[in-house]
Amino acid sequence: MSKFHRNLWYPFTILKDAPKPLKVKSGKGLWLELEDGREIMDAISSWWVNTFGHAHPKITQAITQQSEKLEHVVFANFTHDPAEQAAEMIADALPGSLNRVFYSDDGSTAMEVAMKMAYQYWKNKGQDRPKFICFEGAYHGDTFGAMSAGERSVFTNVFQDLLFDVEFLPYPDTWIGDNTVGDREDEIIAELEMMLTDNPETYAGIMIEPLVQGAGGMKMCREDFLQKLHWVNRQYNTLLIFDEVMTGFGRTGDWFACQRAQVEPDIIAMAKGLTGGFLPLSATVASDDIYDTFYSSDPEKTFWHGHSYTANPLGCVAAIAACELMEEYEPVYSTMEQWHADELHKLRDHPRLKKHRVLGTIAAMDIDTENRDVEVDPYTSEVLRDEDGYLNSVADEIKKRCVDHGVLLRPLGNVLYLMPPYCTTREQLSQMYSAITDLLEEI
Ligand SMILES: *Cc1c(COP(=O)(O)O)cnc(C)c1O
Repeated sequence: MSKFHRNLWYPFTILKDAPKPLKVKSGKGLWLELEDGREIMDAISSWWVNTFGHAHPKITQAITQQSEKLEHVVFANFTHDPAEQAAEMIADALPGSLNRVFYSDDGSTAMEVAMKMAYQYWKNKGQDRPKFICFEGAYHGDTFGAMSAGERSVFTNVFQDLLFDVEFLPYPDTWIGDNTVGDREDEIIAELEMMLTDNPETYAGIMIEPLVQGAGGMKMCREDFLQKLHWVNRQYNTLLIFDEVMTGFGRTGDWFACQRAQVEPDIIAMAKGLTGGFLPLSATVASDDIYDTFYSSDPEKTFWHGHSYTANPLGCVAAIAACELMEEYEPVYSTMEQWHADELHKLRDHPRLKKHRVLGTIAAMDIDTENRDVEVDPYTSEVLRDEDGYLNSVADEIKKRCVDHGVLLRPLGNVLYLMPPYCTTREQLSQMYSAITDLLEEI
C-alpha cells in the first residue's frame, strides 16, 4: 500500500523518500492529537500561522456566526462590514500613512501585489523602474514574482529561465556574541548607496523580510539595519517594501517588525498570523501616497488585480478576532523573548549548537554538522542528507524523532528553531527545550 493517499499530492515533499505523513485528528491550544492517540506540542505554530493556539474559541465563534449571515460576496462594486472593520483595525495597528488595505489570499500573492503596486506606482508617475533590490536568503513565496525576488535555490532552479532579474544584497544576520554585524551592515548600506547613485530611477523598490528571514533559516538582523535602510530609501527616493508575512502579528514581540524597528515602510505585506491560522487571507497595505497615484479615471493607471475570494467575509471576521486577541496576548508575545533568552543561555556551551539567536517569540540555533558526513543546504530540509545513507540528515532525523519527544519541530536544514503560539506557558516552553536537549543526544 502506498504511504500517500492515492488522490493527494503533498507540497514541499520529495515524494519517493518522504516518510508516511502523520494523521492529525484534532488540535486544541498548543496541542495536536494524532490518530494513534499521541499528543504533541505544536512548537512551530503549524507552518507559522497558528498565533493563538489551535481552535481558539473566539475565532471559531466569529467564523461560525459570520457563516450563517454572509459567507462570501463579490468584492468589486460591493463591500461589507467585516472587510471594512478588519481594514480599519489593520490600518490602526500600522504606523503613519499605511492606510490602504488590499486583500488577497496568501503570503505569496500579498507579495505579488506589493511588487505590482510598486512597479506600477512609478509607471503612474511617468517613470520606468524595471528592477527590485532584494536580499540573499530571502523567501517571499512560490509564485513567479515571489520566486524571482527570493534566493535562487533548489526550490527555484528548475524555473530559472522564467524568473525576472533582481539585484541581491547580503542580509546582515547576527546572533548572540557576534561582534562583526555593525561593519557588515555598513558595507551593505555602502553597496546599496552605490547602486542607487550609479543607476538612479532604476529601482522600483527594496524588498526585505524585516528583522527575521524565515524560510532562509531564521536569520535575524538588527533594528539598526532597517533604520539605515529606511534612511537610504528616503534619501534616494525608492520604495521600501516589508514582507511581514511571517514577522507580523506579534512574532517579533511587537505587532509588526516595522514597529519594533520604528521604521515606516511604503508597502507592507501580511498573511500567516492574520486570521490566527484559521483561514487563508492576506493583505498588502500601501501608503496614501501610493494609493493616490492609482486614484484616476485612466484605465492605464488602474490596479487590475483581484481574486475570486478577495476579502472573504469569513477570513475578515477571523482577522478582526485575531486583532482583538493581539491586545489580550500582548503580555505573552512581548515577554517570550526573555523566556527564550533564558533557555538559550543554558544551551550556550552545548557542543552541537552554535549561533544562538532570539527575536520576540522566535528562537533559533544552528546544529554543528562539521563532524558528520552530510551536506548542508540552508534553504531546504528535504534534500539535505548523508549520501552514504547510514545517517539521514539532521533535519530529517529530528523531524522523524521529535514526535516521540512529544513536540512538533521542523528544522530548516541544520537550523533548529522554535516559534510557538502565544498560549504557550513558560513551563511548556521549558519542556520544548528539554525535548531538544534529549533529541540532540540521539542524533
Ligand atoms: C510564508 C511566507 C511567504 C509566502 O506565504 P504563503 O502564504 O505560503 O504563500 C512569503 N513571505 C514570507 C516571509 C513567508 O514567511
